[in-house]
Amino acid sequence: MSYKVPFIKPDFPPADELVADYLEIIKANWYTNFGPFERKFAQKLGEYIGPGYYAATFANATVALQAAILSTLGKGDGSKYVIMPSFTFPAGGDVLIWCGYKPLFVDIVKPGLHMDVTVTKKALKDKAYGPNIVGILFCNAFGVGSLDIVEWEKLSEATGLPLIIDSAAGFGSLYDQKRKVGSAGTCEIFSFHATKPFAIGEGGAVISRDKQLIDDLMSIQNFGFNQQKKIDQLGFNGKLQEINAAIGLRQFKRFDTILKDRRAIFERYQAKLDPDKFELQANASNASLCFAAVLVKDGSKRDDYLANLQAAGVDAKTYYAPTLHKQMYFKDTAHYSSLYITDEVDASILSLPIHDSMEPDDIELIINTLNE
Ligand SMILES: *Cc1c(COP(=O)(O)O)cnc(C)c1O
Repeated sequence: MSYKVPFIKPDFPPADELVADYLEIIKANWYTNFGPFERKFAQKLGEYIGPGYYAATFANATVALQAAILSTLGKGDGSKYVIMPSFTFPAGGDVLIWCGYKPLFVDIVKPGLHMDVTVTKKALKDKAYGPNIVGILFCNAFGVGSLDIVEWEKLSEATGLPLIIDSAAGFGSLYDQKRKVGSAGTCEIFSFHATKPFAIGEGGAVISRDKQLIDDLMSIQNFGFNQQKKIDQLGFNGKLQEINAAIGLRQFKRFDTILKDRRAIFERYQAKLDPDKFELQANASNASLCFAAVLVKDGSKRDDYLANLQAAGVDAKTYYAPTLHKQMYFKDTAHYSSLYITDEVDASILSLPIHDSMEPDDIELIINTLNE
């Protein structure tokens, strides 16, 4: 079914700009393998986060996550746990298993929708799980920066556990006015998939202060070849193509406008949605806003709201519900204590469209349909 208001509306640079880039790529006869567009894009990504940050680009965020886990934890033998939320996109659980680790789900908090640091500390002290936990795969849910990020960094420092942060949808988001998402933990992972606010088609990146980690990630994504062209570790092919890096460089030029547009739409939702019925995700006003995550206070009505929006021609969703522990493949995955809040959010989450330059009438339609 096609909707009057689609859930996501990818927004790419104009064709004539890209023609020039493509001609340059053909002239250079260099299509992939760390060509000039990719090198420049990686540099811009690091600079965007701030002085002292470095980036490795990837073919997508899933292989970026996989390389980050391999580099920080090595390949596991299937006996150790990595803490992660059930309320996330499947990529995190998939890569842990591919890398030889068992996910250990912990509960989340409302209305930030990221993992609960207090519960995580208890899991680390637990006699059965604690000694077997080797890392933390944190998720900035929907790319919205966690207001507790400093607590997580302190925990990582105190325990020595790597803090790998899946911020996939959140390039351009802020933790607060002084700090960008991308600047925290051992490293942060971004996706530039066509459906994310910073869209290049397929693409991703890892950003870190640790230059050695970034160099290692470039080796892993290039079949394990190191800078001396010798293979000293397990690798795969995860490289970003020149044409996608060229699109990324063009997106940088429009990105401030894109962010301003998206935040203005979120502000309309924030100002107009009935606060007795709806609660917005904490800190979302500082995010790049792939969409707006709303908690329906009376969860039993969530499916009615969804149906009403769809009947009005609006494609709304319920990301990340059903959560991972409700999916067939992950249903037997270990979890520490209850996933009570995760289940509550699973039943009450509603995701509302945000596009670059969205029609004011479309925003009104969504707000009025929900408030009525
Ligand atoms: C989109 C997304 C991914 C996957 O990104 P790809 O670039 O498509 O591999 C992973 N994690 C989260 C939280 C996401 O939102």
